[in-house]
Amino acid sequence: MTFKLLVLPGDGIGPEVIAQARRVIDWFVARRGLKVEIEEDLLGGASHDRHGTFLTEATKARARAADAVLIGAEGGPKWAHLRSGSGPEARSGLIRLRRELEVYANLRPIKAFAALSQESPLKAEVIRGVDLVIVRELTGGVYFGEPRGIEKLPDGTRRGVDTQVYTTPEIERVARAAFELARTRRRRVASVDKANVMQTGVLWRQEVQRLHQAAYSDVTLENVLADNCAMQLIRDPRQFDVIVTDNLFGDLLSDGAAMIAGSLGMLPSASLGAPDARGRRKAIYEPVHGSAPDIAGTNAANPLGAVLSVAMMLRHSLGLGAEAELLERAVEAALASGLRTADIAAPGTSVVTTAAMGDGVIAALEAAARG
Ligand code: NAD
Repeated sequence: MTFKLLVLPGDGIGPEVIAQARRVIDWFVARRGLKVEIEEDLLGGASHDRHGTFLTEATKARARAADAVLIGAEGGPKWAHLRSGSGPEARSGLIRLRRELEVYANLRPIKAFAALSQESPLKAEVIRGVDLVIVRELTGGVYFGEPRGIEKLPDGTRRGVDTQVYTTPEIERVARAAFELARTRRRRVASVDKANVMQTGVLWRQEVQRLHQAAYSDVTLENVLADNCAMQLIRDPRQFDVIVTDNLFGDLLSDGAAMIAGSLGMLPSASLGAPDARGRRKAIYEPVHGSAPDIAGTNAANPLGAVLSVAMMLRHSLGLGAEAELLERAVEAALASGLRTADIAAPGTSVVTTAAMGDGVIAALEAAARG
């Protein structure tokens, strides 16, 4: 069956990194018989410039009809003023699309690449062998809770309100995704909350513990406070296998943990919905980074987060684990050959363009196919 993929390059460096991801998909089509039908559409600022909204109804419909969506990045200073207030444009197209597809489990793998051990700001002996996944709840919590907005007070000052809210089903389904993932790995889950100060944290902890006792007692569960987790990720990241946490903490902790991989530009992600009757899940694949307006248009962005997102798509949506590993090994080989975009280059060493890093990955795939 042909796999239907919707590609939304978005803004800033989004189109630049997605161009390299598409070359990789084309390679799997040409050399490994992958059957994929690709549609491309606008998202974010690019969509706003053309249609007056970050996400059109037509794009939403295309995303619903697709087997998966591959996204670059969205946003930038040109459109930042549209995001204040409480109207529909106050939320990015990406956030609306995640909600529309109900992709509640956001998997963010963090790996230390041996070739980059000297480039990370963390010590090589601290990050050696790190292999963890942050499972971030993606469609609830403070990014969606109501009421939200900014209001004017009678004395002329203003008040901003966001609401952190979670329900039992929202916690249970993401915790289930984390326990299931842990069963395919080292069978350890760290559940991260602020149960010491937040009511949503108390509920989070109780629901995760209840599910653990009922269905996943073969997995080791520990509860970690979010502030302590931030510290432990820097002090001793090897202690973690799967981390499950809410939308806000997951956002912060995964950006921090990016430094283990050397750069935000290295990190891929998969956002998965509930399995349907045939076991298929709605899915969005995207690099973790944003649109990086500071380097957009300079062919300097690191495309490996986008390329590794394709590997996650091969694994999670297409069930092609061996092909995913082939691509991950090609990325490692490209790094081992010395290729570095600016974000992962040691000071004074030579730097390659976005496209040249893409060339390196394709060359490594070719070498692996020959070898
Ligand atoms: P950012 O991730 O775009 O950039 C942070 C820093 O990391 C910048 O210095 C940037 O140059 C660097 N960087 C990011 N990706 C890189 C890559 N692939 N290669 C090399 N360097 C890279 O975050 P920001 O600057 O806080 O946000 C910029 C815009 O992106 C904002 O409009 C924000 O709303 C948006 N944003 C979008 C997403 C998304 O689409 N998923 C995520 C975060 C931020």
